[in-house]
Amino acid sequence: MRIDLHTHSRVSDGTQAPAELVRAAATAGLDVVAITDHDITAGWEEAAAAAEEVGIGLVRGIEVSTRFRGSGVHLLAYLPDPDDPRLVAELGRILDGREERVPAMLAQLRALGYDGATEEALAEVAGDTEATGRPHVADLLVRLGAVRDRNEAFVRFLSAGGPAYVDRYATDLTEMIRLVTDARGVPVIAHPWGRGSADVLDRDAFVVLQEAGLFGLEVDHLDHDPQQRGRLREIAGSLGLAVTGSSDHHGLGKTNHELGRETTRPDQLARIVARAAELGSPTTIVGRAL
Ligand code: AMP
Ligand code: ZN
Ligand code: FE
Ligand code: FE
Repeated sequence: MRIDLHTHSRVSDGTQAPAELVRAAATAGLDVVAITDHDITAGWEEAAAAAEEVGIGLVRGIEVSTRFRGSGVHLLAYLPDPDDPRLVAELGRILDGREERVPAMLAQLRALGYDGATEEALAEVAGDTEATGRPHVADLLVRLGAVRDRNEAFVRFLSAGGPAYVDRYATDLTEMIRLVTDARGVPVIAHPWGRGSADVLDRDAFVVLQEAGLFGLEVDHLDHDPQQRGRLREIAGSLGLAVTGSSDHHGLGKTNHELGRETTRPDQLARIVARAAELGSPTTIVGRAL
């Protein structure tokens, strides 16, 4: 069983439509894939239909933008009720924050001399996304000939502290762990020791977050080196947290994140699915039984 529990479609900042993403996962030889667009569930339905069609297991999830002790932390929410009113409202607030910062980013780019950085031009590269992010602004910079690829755009303009960086609203991590659990979903911290959050997420923090409902840690992710993975695995083991691994695929938007590059053990996925069932979630794995 090959299981990849963290991927993005064009509904957020990936480059494939949800159905394309699921078909590509099947072609890559995966047995189970999760769709985890940033802050949004709009891709779930199309992805589920494709999963039924190709006979691959689909875990429906969200990668939620949160903040913990001043640092940005991404929280994977697996199998929540997508219609839970409080979760829907809070995701709406995050999505509003995404839209609200766009004009400011574009204005900063225009001030730097990129006259083509307009909302109209951004709309052309961002397509039909409802979760606009810096990667879309990066795509615009590529189109304007300012940079070669998304990565160069982040390095030169868009990373925190960069000349076109603008902060946005994100939910408190502990509050979001509670919200996800109340929505009967399973919270797993994405790339905990990747850029930005390594300093604030120590063992003591995981203990406190577990009391709020944290269920697992994404250990096998490209952002973690072998030493970090060993240490995170040790912490997860001692606390009884589930351990996942994933590609964080973004289609053509991020190099080295090919589907199935990192995977999750079947027993760990089984724990996540069982936890959602135990919480009474109306959402489960579709397309193929475990
Ligand atoms: P935002 O959602 O606007 O906060 O932008 C964060 C997104 O940008 C995340 O999904 C990352 O995967 C993506 N990202 C961060 N750094 C890079 C990079 N160097 N190259 C491409 N994508 C990146
Ligand atoms: Zn992304
Ligand atoms: Fe992330
Ligand atoms: Fe991601």
